[in-house]
Amino acid sequence: MVLTDYGQIKELLARHNFRFSKSLGQNFLTAAWVPEQIADSALLDENTGVLEIGPGIGCLTEQLSKRAGKVVSVELDKALMPVLSETLAGCENTVVVFGDVLKQDLEAIVKNDFAGLRPAVCANLPYNVTSPVLTKLVSSGLFESITVMIQREVARRICAEAGDPDYSSFGILLQWYTEPEILFDVPPSCFVPQPKVTSSVIRLVRRTSPPAEVKDEKLMFALIRAAFNQRRKTLVNAVASGVPQLSKSDVENALETLDLDPKVRGEELSVSQFAALADALGKENS
Ligand code: SAM
Repeated sequence: MVLTDYGQIKELLARHNFRFSKSLGQNFLTAAWVPEQIADSALLDENTGVLEIGPGIGCLTEQLSKRAGKVVSVELDKALMPVLSETLAGCENTVVVFGDVLKQDLEAIVKNDFAGLRPAVCANLPYNVTSPVLTKLVSSGLFESITVMIQREVARRICAEAGDPDYSSFGILLQWYTEPEILFDVPPSCFVPQPKVTSSVIRLVRRTSPPAEVKDEKLMFALIRAAFNQRRKTLVNAVASGVPQLSKSDVENALETLDLDPKVRGEELSVSQFAALADALGKENS
């Protein structure tokens, strides 16, 4: 069966009395080139163990199964159980786990299922949980690469740099651990039901070392969060009100040692400048 053929999908789902759930972000692919191109972009070979999130009816899963040594696919919707046992019957290197990806022990999956393999992630993500899922995957440090389809707007935020209107604390967090890259866009017409927005496929490759040196990563991320929580305020005011242990004069002095304008806003600082600021503030408070 062709898992991206609209007529065949309709027949399969009707036979299993399946109804799409909006709250589970169920938009299934109906264009064969998309799962093929996503799987081709995921840096897979027979030595890779790949984690998929949300197989749906399995159109991307079957492409991953052809390219990787092992596939573990986590699906929250148990109504897809009989569907997937039919569609993935031929994929012998593939295991489907029914549950919420946010509650899975990823370390156990990598240790038990991907022993001797390079761990990677590849998925058409449910859009409503994109941020928590990517945060969990990236901060686990377990995966060499993460190739996912997400909303284009979120993909742009992840890749944005200082001064860009899409620059965000979420983007900085992901850029700290990985090198993200937007690969290609996918229009709404490639899905059933069609989403309202364009999607992008993005690949995040794990960094061997962070983009800057910093003594206290926790303090740096506290500064970043404070700066972006109140992005209209100057950095001095945003940090003084968002990081309890720091005063306005602490931040003003640190900015002066770094030759930065005391009126600068957080969104104007690069990741290395946030790292330098954290080091300067750490020194002042020690
Ligand atoms: N991979 C399929 C495709 O490309 O056609 C389906 C992708 S669909 C955008 C997202 C899938 O994620 C759905 O099958 C949905 O049931 C599943 N899902 C939603 N939330 C989930 C969660 N928290 N954990 C695991 N799967 C989830």
